[in-house]
Amino acid sequence: MKEKEKESLIGKDTNEIIEIVKSFNEKDYRGKQISKWIYQKFTDNFENMSDISKDLRNELSKKYYLYNGQIIKTSNSDDGTIKYLIKFNNDTIEAVNIFQKYHLTACISTQVGCNVKCPFCATGLSGFRKNLSASEIVQQFLLMQRESKERISNIVYMGMGEPLLNYDNTIKSVKILNKEVGIGIRNITISTSGILKGMEKIIKENLQFNLAISLHTADEEQRNKLVPINKNNPLKDLLFLCKKYVQETNRRITFEYVMLNNINDSIDHAKLLIEKLKGIHCHINLIPHNKIYSSENYESTPMNKIKLFKDILSEYFPTTIRVSRGREKDSACGQLRIIQGV
Ligand code: SF4
Repeated sequence: MKEKEKESLIGKDTNEIIEIVKSFNEKDYRGKQISKWIYQKFTDNFENMSDISKDLRNELSKKYYLYNGQIIKTSNSDDGTIKYLIKFNNDTIEAVNIFQKYHLTACISTQVGCNVKCPFCATGLSGFRKNLSASEIVQQFLLMQRESKERISNIVYMGMGEPLLNYDNTIKSVKILNKEVGIGIRNITISTSGILKGMEKIIKENLQFNLAISLHTADEEQRNKLVPINKNNPLKDLLFLCKKYVQETNRRITFEYVMLNNINDSIDHAKLLIEKLKGIHCHINLIPHNKIYSSENYESTPMNKIKLFKDILSEYFPTTIRVSRGREKDSACGQLRIIQGV
């Protein structure tokens, strides 16, 4: 079989791996052993699977591979954040490990670039190349885990791309990271700009991951500019689905709100936000804007003004200010991008 026609075993769950080994006339438990090597012991090579016969390893490697991704650059920030440049065949993505006091969080990507084109985000400005497969999404996690001495405890789908525009691969990867790797479902967060079709599907999935909505303004007109998919996924319909999500799943939603100086940070913006989110069980996370190179030249709201904005909202909703990590190595929120020519 040509290399190109081979498939990755990563991204397949234990049941699927069992079906594969059965096609080689092997017993079910061999599939479980292989799954354990991949998802629990993080092996990158069939050769390391010492309790699997050499014949089966050889047969598997004729049709399957494990990784097509590799870390080609690592950037360490002073606050401990580590950004990884990962190459999948001809494409690169960035993913980040964020060390906090009690946990290690992997921020992973679902697409090479992003079509949503939020004007304050480096990913959106770097264009869109392709969706990542479920295998490639899971590989990011496994590659970062292999590099790290500590176990990664949390995953946020907040890297490059809009997860709900790559719905099936995103959900498949969540299931594998939860069930096979063992990351608690409540330690997994999917962040979306608010794709209505994807939101409707999520409500039906009955999966207990956390949902974060990148809201950024409660003004319909302004959102058309700041989050351009709003033109086809209007805020009023998004908020209706948010209410439905809370009712049907009993989960709280997080609204992310990037603080752009003199753009979406006035007292009137705060009041409008309160009015629009009234009745939704939610938490608001204010994100100081991280500088990127863009013609629009957005600036972050100064911290004293962010605190004032927070105080107004806090009367009505639990509200936090995100501590930006990895800024000096362009590893922070909104700074990830496609790197050309590597
Ligand atoms: S903020 Fe998110 S949705 Fe918007 S362009 Fe960046 S990656 Fe895409």
